[in-house]
Amino acid sequence: MSTERNDPKESSSPSSPTAQIAVELKPPVDTYIKCPYDAGHRILRSRLSWHLTRCARNHPGSNMIRCPFNTTHVVHSSDMNSHIKNCSSRIDFERFQNPDVLPPKEPLASPVPLVESSENWDDEPPVATYDPRAYCEQNLVIRSIVGAPPASRRVFRELERKRFQEISQGKNN
Ligand SMILES: [Zn+2]
Ligand SMILES: [Zn+2]
Repeated sequence: MSTERNDPKESSSPSSPTAQIAVELKPPVDTYIKCPYDAGHRILRSRLSWHLTRCARNHPGSNMIRCPFNTTHVVHSSDMNSHIKNCSSRIDFERFQNPDVLPPKEPLASPVPLVESSENWDDEPPVATYDPRAYCEQNLVIRSIVGAPPASRRVFRELERKRFQEISQGKNN
C-alpha cells in the first residue's frame, strides 16, 4: 500500500481548484498579440520582435517607444513611465543588476574522479639505470669499435674472442 498522494498540480481532475490555477499560470506557448502600432495586426508572439522592427518603420511619427527592459514592449511615450513601473521584464533586469537575488547557481559538474592506484609513476624506477656497455661486456653481444684504425680493431676482435670464450666457459661450468 502506497502512502503517497498525487500532487494536486499534476492531477487532471477539473474539480481541484489548484489544478485550474496551475493551468491559468502556464505561460502561453505561442499566442497572437495585437501590434502596438496597428491594432489590425495580429502577430504570433514568436514573430513579434521581427514584426515590430518592420512595423516601426511604417509608423515613424507614432511616438511609440520601446521599453528599456524588453524590446518587444512598445508603448506610447506618454504611457512609458507607468509601463516601466509595472513591466514584467524589469524583474529580470533587477535580478541581473543584483546577483545576490539571483537564484542559486546550478551545481558544478562533478570533477573527473580520481582513480585509485598503488603505482606512482613519479617515483624513481626500482631498477638501476641500463648501462649498455656494462651489459655487453658481461654477455655474448658482438661489439665493434666504430671509427678505430684497422690495427686497433684487430686487437679488439681478439679480445672479444677471448671474452666470448671466458663467458661461454663460465656459463658451461
Ligand atoms: Zn504591426
Ligand atoms: Zn516593458
